[in-house]
Amino acid sequence: MFSGNLGYPRIGRNREWKKALERYWAGQLEEGAFHAELKTIRLGNLKAQQERGIDVIPVGDFTYYDHILDLSAMFGLIPARFGYAGGEVDQATYYAVARGNREAAASEMTKWFNTNYHYIVPELADANPDLTRNRLLDAYREAKSELGIEGRPVLVGPYTFLKLSKGYAPNELDGWIDRLLPLYAQVLRELAAEGVAWVQVDEPILATTLAEEDLARVARIYETLTREVPDVKLMLQTYFESVDAYEAVVSLPVHGIGLDFVHDGGRNLAAVRRHGFPSDKVLGAGLIDGRSIWKADLQEKLIALTALREWVSADRILIQPSSSLLHVPVSAAQERALQPELRDALAFADEKLEELALLAKAGRSGTESVAAELSEAARRRRALAESPSRQRPRVQAEMAKLSAQPDVRADAFPVRREAQRRRWNLPLLPTTTIGSFPQTPEVRGARQKWRKGEWSNEAYETFVKEQIREWIDIQTELGIDVFVHGEFERNDMVEFFGEKLEGFAFTANGWVQSYGSRCVKPPIIYGDVELTAPMTVAETVYAQSLTSKPVKGMLTGPITILNWSFVRDDKTREEVAYQIALALREEVKALEEAGIGMIQVDEPAIREGLPLKREQWQPYLDWAVRAFRISTATVRSETQIHTHMCYSEFHDIIDAISALDADVISIETSRSHGELISVFEDHTYDKGIGLGVYDIHSPRVPDAGEMCGMIDRALRVLDPAQFWINPDCGLKTRKAEETIAALRHMVEATERARERYAVQA
Ligand code: GLN
Ligand code: ZN
Repeated sequence: MFSGNLGYPRIGRNREWKKALERYWAGQLEEGAFHAELKTIRLGNLKAQQERGIDVIPVGDFTYYDHILDLSAMFGLIPARFGYAGGEVDQATYYAVARGNREAAASEMTKWFNTNYHYIVPELADANPDLTRNRLLDAYREAKSELGIEGRPVLVGPYTFLKLSKGYAPNELDGWIDRLLPLYAQVLRELAAEGVAWVQVDEPILATTLAEEDLARVARIYETLTREVPDVKLMLQTYFESVDAYEAVVSLPVHGIGLDFVHDGGRNLAAVRRHGFPSDKVLGAGLIDGRSIWKADLQEKLIALTALREWVSADRILIQPSSSLLHVPVSAAQERALQPELRDALAFADEKLEELALLAKAGRSGTESVAAELSEAARRRRALAESPSRQRPRVQAEMAKLSAQPDVRADAFPVRREAQRRRWNLPLLPTTTIGSFPQTPEVRGARQKWRKGEWSNEAYETFVKEQIREWIDIQTELGIDVFVHGEFERNDMVEFFGEKLEGFAFTANGWVQSYGSRCVKPPIIYGDVELTAPMTVAETVYAQSLTSKPVKGMLTGPITILNWSFVRDDKTREEVAYQIALALREEVKALEEAGIGMIQVDEPAIREGLPLKREQWQPYLDWAVRAFRISTATVRSETQIHTHMCYSEFHDIIDAISALDADVISIETSRSHGELISVFEDHTYDKGIGLGVYDIHSPRVPDAGEMCGMIDRALRVLDPAQFWINPDCGLKTRKAEETIAALRHMVEATERARERYAVQA
């Protein structure tokens, strides 16, 4: 029985990778030194796996930016606008595709399945596929010559690659398979000639919902590759979910199949039990969670392993993580500041490798050979499970009556609308913003000084108040109707709340790659989530004291907090979402009692939490909606609940959006206006709604005429009486001048629209 890994984090122990990329881009690191620096990190990553006794170590998973972009570059799939003329893709072109340059806009990036990692979307439209350089061969040779590692080259397979690409019509897919297959075959042939025995081909697309014709294409692809290159063995790797058509997938003509036994809802193991596993194949048993940060319950893993051995002989089992370790931080060794029971229960990439090696040893030499390690691991898990942070009495009491927790507003929307209208008597087409105002260097600098202890709490609070006052004055001068305080006290919309709630912890170095050189350090929800003091009341009330216009309270919703954190694994995500919702409900009530009459609960992450499989969407949406409603339903009818979302792919989830029962929703729109409008052609939406009238991602300040155009188009399908006017999203990344200029145009556009639509309304 062997241990294997599927991919290792690129970013380096102390984000050396990120820093090297950014220095290189800034011209502070020469090309030669840059390559040398990345090589050091790459070899360090291999050594970390070697030292932990991993038998099968992947090579080629390391990247200069993104592994999908690497494939595009390897196959010469570079859009024409980058002036690429074939041949090896140079460093400048590679980064131009990722980041754009003066002549050409970057390729789009999008989320890698249901993770928070973003890949660069390949554009096939005008591309001419060609094998420009076999980078897997380079990686294999380097690992062998430098470290004596017989690495396993890893690449994403043709079907996943094509399914994630754009720039071709559905009826061109087969043609594209025909064009790419010879290139894949060439890569494999060269590897085989070099003496490579196995190649890992990732096809995570097999874990999504597939049609018959998809499976037929996958079969054709792997029949061709194994026929063309018979002397290399393929490990067909799936992850993130159960495979959709187990029997079809395990009978593909490859030598090994990798399955996720963690995020599969038990379906993969059940399928092995029901249908068996082909005796001529190796099973990649994804037993260690590649996406969580917790030490595994090794006892439970050994039981799963025993179950698998009824169907697969021990010499054909490769024990591996459920997915690449790209999605977890590098090493928990540096987290000395965390409380001991939490720190000791963490397993980042390096600790997961140790678990894999341990399971393989147990498989080879019997459980007794690792008895001491097993009992130590069990002790650590128990210590966290029994810690007081996981049994907070007030949270448990509320959760015990979960089914009775109110999640319906006392009055239906029409009654609330009337109560709210009487309370504020807002003009037609009320104007507002989404929450944040510019986080200028001054604002960030002040927070730094306060965090370092150079500024007292009082000095920092005074500073924040000055910012609030300044921006209340600006909103007054601009003539906005519904104000915000500006979120100057917040670094990040999840971290801010995590730091104030019980049950959250923050690591010193728990970074994971989000896209390119950008890394995020998600909070850890490790205990029961409880509110012990109001989080936003002081700033909001202060802002409200300065104006007679309504100031919106501003909270991050339960699902967004959940989806942007690492979450404890002893409770379901649903339960954790309800805990957060119950805590937020108290904040909502506190704001209401302090006289705040409009409260916005942002949920930009609801959509990205959708499961990979269609049939699981509804259960997820049901509990996500319920969590939102638990946090907002207990307010009075004259209190107006707002929500906000930063995407416009609504067709699939419009019913869930409606079911949130928010009085007003604002939606990012300007980059995909047409799409969104068509949603409202097909569905009637009767509550307050603001479709962003300008893009906040760009420094460009659109004029009032352009915004009028956006308003007019929206009002072809929406009633002016329900429509709000706002920018696409929060303004924290913009400069103050840009923000003020754009908002001035927004108010001007609104005034013109009011004249035109007054009669109709
Ligand atoms: N209220 C938040 C802000 O304005 C919303 C951010 C978001 O939707 N991502 O910054
Ligand atoms: Zn947004």
